[in-house]
Amino acid sequence: MARGARQPAAPGAHRRPRRVLLKLSGEMIGGSSGAGFAAEGLSLLADQIAGARGAGAEIAVMIGGGNLVRGTRAGFLPRAEADGIGMLGTLMNALALRAALESRETPAAVLSAFAVPRFADLYRPELGRALLAEGRVLLLAGGTGQTHLTTDTAAALRALELHCTLLIKATKVDGVYSADPAREPGARRFASLSYEEVLARRLAVMDLTAITLCMENGLPLVVLNATTPGSVARYLRSGRGGTRVGAVARRAPRRRA
Ligand code: UDP
Repeated sequence: MARGARQPAAPGAHRRPRRVLLKLSGEMIGGSSGAGFAAEGLSLLADQIAGARGAGAEIAVMIGGGNLVRGTRAGFLPRAEADGIGMLGTLMNALALRAALESRETPAAVLSAFAVPRFADLYRPELGRALLAEGRVLLLAGGTGQTHLTTDTAAALRALELHCTLLIKATKVDGVYSADPAREPGARRFASLSYEEVLARRLAVMDLTAITLCMENGLPLVVLNATTPGSVARYLRSGRGGTRVGAVARRAPRRRA
């Protein structure tokens, strides 16, 4: 092999993903209450995003709106209105995240699924890819822009359009468990799962539309705990932690540490 040429990766070795879409739940911006805006929630997420970029990957972020309104939980409003308000909530979250990132000298741009010229440019895949290639964090607001969907589905869709090689779903739990670890002490964390297993067992990973999109397009997904500072960057560097969902399950479930 010529000097300076790259060694081929050993089988099973971790390859750092080049472009990643990080799905963050709005609840995390709400901090411990999960509602509204909390400085510590915003700070945690901005640090995770800046750290992930520091790990050398291009980062697109789909931010949810669960700290403000979730269409399915706002039964006092017609669904279409509730979903519209939920999507607008994601725009507020994206603007707050941009401000937090810029205060960390991490350049970021907000693209919205619907027109809001005063606050953000309209999302187009080519524009999104160009901003990522420039090294900006891309904050995606407004989900898909369509009602009756979630930001999980929007995350899978945008990851495909933006040519991301990995989708990371950041949650408050360190992966996917065989049962609710808060209620069942014997619950086991899966190191990896196949898409089919997630769908067949209806494991609470992402909504089923999102999983189906990942499966049909071979997009790998990792579920990580984003409340642990630095967890996203650590995963990008080492490939360790969380639960990986892909075409083939690689390992049996592990006992909870
Ligand atoms: N939403 C929507 N279409 C989308 C994405 C989101 O109508 O493509 C609405 C929906 O009401 C949803 C809310 O926006 O409940 C907030 O998004 P989500 O529940 O996915 O946020 P998260 O739970 O991730 O914070």
